[in-house]
Amino acid sequence: MTTSASLPADSAPEASGDPSVTDRLVGANRQYAAQFTDPGMDARPVLRVAVVACMDARLDLHAALGLELGDCHTIRNAGGVVTDDTIRSLTISQRALGTRTVILIHHTGCGLESLTEDFRHELEDEVGQRPAWAVEAFRDVDQDVRQSMQRVRTNPFLPHKDDVRGFVFDVHTGLLREIDPSS
Ligand SMILES: [Zn+2]
Repeated sequence: MTTSASLPADSAPEASGDPSVTDRLVGANRQYAAQFTDPGMDARPVLRVAVVACMDARLDLHAALGLELGDCHTIRNAGGVVTDDTIRSLTISQRALGTRTVILIHHTGCGLESLTEDFRHELEDEVGQRPAWAVEAFRDVDQDVRQSMQRVRTNPFLPHKDDVRGFVFDVHTGLLREIDPSS
């Protein structure tokens, strides 16, 4: 079943006796756990920061921001957009787990720039129902970061909105570029 809303079926790995990707990752976890020592942290992020970022595979948040285990909450989705579910996580992050700073990170070359809300209509044509969620596609990444900052700053559930900054990560240089919320 192939539509413009899904990848071709032949892009999936073949089952040819090789371990599946999940089996490979579970194997890697055994090695990780063998060397793991419990740092004895509690659940509150050390730096009291929550990072909202795109799920893009080229963005290694911990490496790109010099973060260590336990430093921050990372909330990721397609686009790094501030949806109701992002607000749910940020509300819990601030009210139950003590974070005070919000950093928003979108990036160059995001998959959402090549989509439109037609994606939802294509899904409807294929499966007979339209998803309740918006695709949150965008054309101007700077403007989308501004909109995300605005959604955080105007949300009534979040008590800490003074320290909210937004950036675009360049997937070719690794550099963050800050977005001025007012321009
Ligand atoms: Zn992206």
